[in-house]
Amino acid sequence: MSTYVLVAGDPGVAALVEAAVELGAPVTAVVVGDESLARAAAAPGVDRVVWLGAVGDHAVEAFAAAVAQQVAADPGVVLAGRKAGERALLGAVAATLAAPVVTAPLKIAAQQVTRSVAGGLATETRSYAGPVAIVLDGGAPLAGGGPAAVEPVAAQPAAVTVTGLRPNPAPPADLGSAERVVAVGRGLKAKQDLPIIEALAAALKAELACSRPVAEGLDWVARDRYVGVSGQQISPRLYLAVGISGQLQHMGGCRGSDLIVAINNDPEAPIVAQSDYVLTGDLYALAPALTAALA
Ligand SMILES: Cc1cc2nc3c(=O)[nH]c(=O)nc-3n(C[C@H](O)[C@H](O)[C@H](O)COP(=O)(O)OP(=O)(O)OC[C@H]3O[C@@H](n4cnc5c(N)ncnc54)[C@H](O)[C@@H]3O)c2cc1C
Repeated sequence: MSTYVLVAGDPGVAALVEAAVELGAPVTAVVVGDESLARAAAAPGVDRVVWLGAVGDHAVEAFAAAVAQQVAADPGVVLAGRKAGERALLGAVAATLAAPVVTAPLKIAAQQVTRSVAGGLATETRSYAGPVAIVLDGGAPLAGGGPAAVEPVAAQPAAVTVTGLRPNPAPPADLGSAERVVAVGRGLKAKQDLPIIEALAAALKAELACSRPVAEGLDWVARDRYVGVSGQQISPRLYLAVGISGQLQHMGGCRGSDLIVAINNDPEAPIVAQSDYVLTGDLYALAPALTAALA
């Protein structure tokens, strides 16, 4: 049984190799990308490097069947990083192998994974008899220097072609490194009221975030800014939740904040018991007053 590390366009997988080595089985890096990437993947701890070729104008997940073929020959744990291409490829590989996918595990052992469930209220340990696909933080770039030779394999990518690539004018939100975050929820009545919250965030030099319905459904704030178990998980020094009820799925994304402050007009809202400080009242009065006080 081998452990596989997917390397798809990015050498930043040193933490995956480290995790793979700890599992004790031989480690195979399966590389989709330029030959220089395959050479970088031949790092200490890696026993084999299988190079499936350059991506060209294919989508990276077009190589899923070729990766799955490698894994099926000697099934085991398949590790991939969190970047979009790596996750897309891992998901397609898992589908091809009918393998389960685990994201953000707390601990992995050979054929056993422990993960957080119920928004962090419990941990669950699962055992797997067959291959399992696991998403982890990739870590630092690999730079070769190991004993493995690069083994080229002529892969037949599926007919998925990238026909257009347009840079996004706005850079993606970096909530994870923000010291202060002001998040808005459905207590806000209309999209045109958003400047009230943006002004408060600006006064606090904070990043703007939101609850899921504000991003998905209402579409008032970009989707990379919602906090929760299915969104961003962050732990800033200050998390100011404005008009957010504090459901389990939301708090799972901000519970680790040093200080949680809520503005809510319902003294019984679940967020009240989960906050360090609460301003009880109408956000339309309290948020501008706070902004003015901070000016
Ligand atoms: C599988 C699953 C995954 C989910 N993942 C997430 C996730 O990752 N992130 C997430 O956020 N949600 C997630 N949800 C949704 C979650 O369960 C809640 O529905 C959501 O968080 C509620 O958003 P909210 O607090 O903005 O809205 P509401 O629950 O509607 O709360 C609005 C709050 O605003 C207050 N309010 C109203 N008017 C005012 C006012 N004028 N002034 C002050 N306060 C006011 C109300 O008292 C209330 O507490 C998920 C749900 C499911 C089923």
